[in-house]
Amino acid sequence: MRPQLFIRKRPFPAIAAIILVLLLSACAKREEPLYQQQLLTFGTLLEISIWGADKRLAQQASSQIGADLQQMHNDWHAWHDSPLTRMNQALSAGAPVTVPASILPLVQKSVALSRASEGLFNPAIGRLIKLWGFEQDDLPSGPPPSPAAITALTKQQPGMNDLILDGNQLRSTNPAVQLDFGAIAKGYGVDLAIARLRELGIQNAIINAGGNLRAIGKHGDRPWRIGIRNPRGEGVLASIETRGDESILTSGDYERFYDYQGKRYHHIIDPRSGYPATGAISVTVIADDAATADAASTALFVAGPQRWREIAKKLGIMQVMLIDGKGRVAVTPAMAKRVRYEIDLSPKVTVVPLS
Ligand code: AMP
Ligand code: MG
Repeated sequence: MRPQLFIRKRPFPAIAAIILVLLLSACAKREEPLYQQQLLTFGTLLEISIWGADKRLAQQASSQIGADLQQMHNDWHAWHDSPLTRMNQALSAGAPVTVPASILPLVQKSVALSRASEGLFNPAIGRLIKLWGFEQDDLPSGPPPSPAAITALTKQQPGMNDLILDGNQLRSTNPAVQLDFGAIAKGYGVDLAIARLRELGIQNAIINAGGNLRAIGKHGDRPWRIGIRNPRGEGVLASIETRGDESILTSGDYERFYDYQGKRYHHIIDPRSGYPATGAISVTVIADDAATADAASTALFVAGPQRWREIAKKLGIMQVMLIDGKGRVAVTPAMAKRVRYEIDLSPKVTVVPLS
């Protein structure tokens, strides 16, 4: 019998994960050595799939990862009392601060990725994110902030270039800088979770933190297959078979948003205007590590249909799919080779070289 695709149902429907792990169906009578666990941690639904490991080891790995990610969530929290909020207080006072070891790699990676994205990925805009209300667990309901309040923040131009990092000593030359790692932390957490699995001797797995996904190895003798969510409507738009160790992440305007007087206000903010970025509704990227893919998907979302190719080149990202507000799909040639569309999109798809 030919294997069929099925989509695993989520027990937590309130949480909209962007990428669903698709598993080839269990047509075979024997039980497949697939271990799956879903946890609410890290402020999201975490899905762990492990193939071919001893069940007890897989259980141990899952609970370890759940605990690791919860710890990271506590350390990196941008608004509850946390090592990050204490750091932010020092930065706004212009005081030097020792960056905790758990946050240092995030700062270092973010500085480099922000620069490469020309500041479109900009974790220094914590105040703007707070002004919009997207820093909270509960979604805001509007009204949107006043134009004057937005301008007051954007004109101070907080950016990662305002930071001076010397070893683990950090200070900001701009008091408007407030760090919010919402656009990279889940990817980085997924990278650490994969490192933990490898440490435990697990070679075949997927970690999916609310659509921020990294795969290693295979699903038995087949590749893992993952689905990219349809940004408008239920279900899966396209699927991709993973190749060894790689990360696939999507940023979308459907993840966190509210509608106010007929207009959608979502959580991905264009640091230049101070408003939710316009043009794209979903951007999927494939990269080696999930932290880079996470920052890149946010940056390309902000770059939008006009500038995404230029920014992708600067970030060294070759595999991109961008969907615009009219449902048009632009893919790079490298992405086009990977994607299988699950609904008929042919009239809407364009393959666009990066240069
Ligand atoms: P993502 O879902 O990975 O695209 O990240 C979106 C989250 O990152 C938001 O909820 C904000 O916390 C934060 N964020 C929004 N806009 C930006 C931006 N332009 N650069 C960096 N972080 C952002
Ligand atoms: Mg991101």
